[in-house]
Amino acid sequence: MAPELTSPRAEPLEGLGTALFLQTVHRADGRHPQGGVAGVRELLKADGIGVVYVLPRKDRLRTATEVVHQTRLKAPRAQIMLDASHYSGKQRKLGTAGVDDGWIKRQHNDGVRYALTDSGYVPAQDTASLHRILHQAANINDKLRRGKGVVAALPIAVEWLTLDADQLQKAITDHGTPVALMIEHDKDPLALKNAVQGLAHVLQAPTTVGLLRCDVSVLGALAYGAAMVAVGDSSALRHFFPKKGGGGGYIPGTSILVPRMLGFYRQDKLANAIEDNPDDNAWKCDCRVCQGRNLRWIAESSNPHQNAFNHGTAAISAMAQDLFVNRGDSAARHAAWHEAVTAAEEAHQTAAGWKPTPALRRWQELYETS
Ligand SMILES: [Zn+2]
Repeated sequence: MAPELTSPRAEPLEGLGTALFLQTVHRADGRHPQGGVAGVRELLKADGIGVVYVLPRKDRLRTATEVVHQTRLKAPRAQIMLDASHYSGKQRKLGTAGVDDGWIKRQHNDGVRYALTDSGYVPAQDTASLHRILHQAANINDKLRRGKGVVAALPIAVEWLTLDADQLQKAITDHGTPVALMIEHDKDPLALKNAVQGLAHVLQAPTTVGLLRCDVSVLGALAYGAAMVAVGDSSALRHFFPKKGGGGGYIPGTSILVPRMLGFYRQDKLANAIEDNPDDNAWKCDCRVCQGRNLRWIAESSNPHQNAFNHGTAAISAMAQDLFVNRGDSAARHAAWHEAVTAAEEAHQTAAGWKPTPALRRWQELYETS
């Protein structure tokens, strides 16, 4: 088992054990999760990370019980969280509808330590939704026995980060209850001007703040104080889509993580770049799955989709360990992340002649101005 990865923050969630989670959709019909139930369980055990299962609307309760049970069989100590995901889709719930106490109880009865609220969407400037969720979650948390907890899911419009981060931070601070942010956008919310700055500001709230449904930027969030983060195993789970368009930004097919570029790339695009410049170090991966191989092995394997998933999760876990374990002080974490981002920007140029992903620039701006 990998050494424990926790947040340096004063108030991490008690007994959480890891700050890093994989987020994946679980359907009982066998089409999900991406890595297969067995694959996910194997990763949890090998890498010591946790899992957030996004549940289907249909048969949600039965699926929840089943997936917790199945996961426990192989990874008995893994932290599991359940995302009811009512904030997404065309019929999505709004934050003003509040949270369901019964869903919290159900998760605790299933043996989940930290129950995630089934919050609705929090539109820009909708302080009523924001306060309703926080207030209810804080009330539930106050009444719980030791050893159980509630995390308020905050599925927010990105404007909460770009325009109203101060207000968001204040609301979280005032209620003093753990929260997990999820950010709405068509593509990458953290590519927007001021989104990374806003996120870093909110992460400084003196309570537990997490970031779910994200991409490699989870590592930046860990550097800047997130107590828990979840990286999605598909593009649709690396943010959540606005209602209009109904998931138009979904990219089908297999994306492969290039650890040295801190980004996911379509399998065909990556294969072409590797072919053009096969010996570049950027394609080499030292994760538990790849063991120093060139990433081309994934596309050439008999099951690229499964291998891309195994490699991606193992590589992010390894990067989080390298960057942050034994680096308790925030200045050291900021510097480690800055160094990784700088190297990733260079790798884009030198290995493939690609423009670095915009979020990398945003993380640089944050480092340079703080
Ligand atoms: Zn790898």
